[in-house]
Amino acid sequence: MMTNPKRLIPYYQLARQWRDLSDWWPGETPWDVAVSAVLTQNTQWSRAFRALQDLRQAGLDTPDAVARAQRSVLERLVRPAGSFRRKAQTIQALARFVVTECGGHPRRLSTWPLDRARSALLAIHGIGPETADAILLYACGVPVAVVDAYTVRILQRHGLLPAGRWRYEDVQHQMETWFSGDAEAWKELHAQMVTVGRTFCKARGPLCMACPWRPLLPEGRPDDGVSGPRDRVLGLREGISQSRPVELGRPVQ
Ligand code: SF4
Repeated sequence: MMTNPKRLIPYYQLARQWRDLSDWWPGETPWDVAVSAVLTQNTQWSRAFRALQDLRQAGLDTPDAVARAQRSVLERLVRPAGSFRRKAQTIQALARFVVTECGGHPRRLSTWPLDRARSALLAIHGIGPETADAILLYACGVPVAVVDAYTVRILQRHGLLPAGRWRYEDVQHQMETWFSGDAEAWKELHAQMVTVGRTFCKARGPLCMACPWRPLLPEGRPDDGVSGPRDRVLGLREGISQSRPVELGRPVQ
């Protein structure tokens, strides 16, 4: 199936010529980014952003403060992001983990062996593989591939992944075979996948003519039979928002 071992590099380079997405995920602190990865699950970024602002205005802007907060207060503040009881529980569990295991600094996870760091995050109720990897990449600076529904749809439409169900870990492994770079490069590649996916690679009717990745489209593609990737990738249960966070600017002042 594979002829070019680094076959995602042309995607990365073409998208870079199209748009600078190097500052795509906003956040004043690594903790902001980690919290927003939870808040934006299955909701629009604007709603997650409002909840993040409310947390900050209430002084709950550090792992220590969130770990000690009353659950009812957290629930009220994260309500704009939806699923507020579960998200409040997840954010507080994440905060307690960061306080007890990382000395209050989420970036310390970057010094852990990757499997251990990922397993620790996955052990927190409400954090699935997409959220765990988004935290590791964007909050902690660990170079990992983040897999989401747009990524799978694009890879399948370009014939890089056969249609059908894929496990999250398998897609991630493929991506890490096809691309290499530091955390900044992985951040940008994921931003490109989401942005191109949202802008052009729509589930019903991809807008290939305007897409920066059209030159990479194999003959006869896209395969219109590829749709609905969300239910084709096992493990994508938490569904981080697919909107572009940076469109709203930096979330906190
Ligand atoms: S819109 Fe077309 S060219 Fe762009 S990523 Fe999707 S299938 Fe490829």
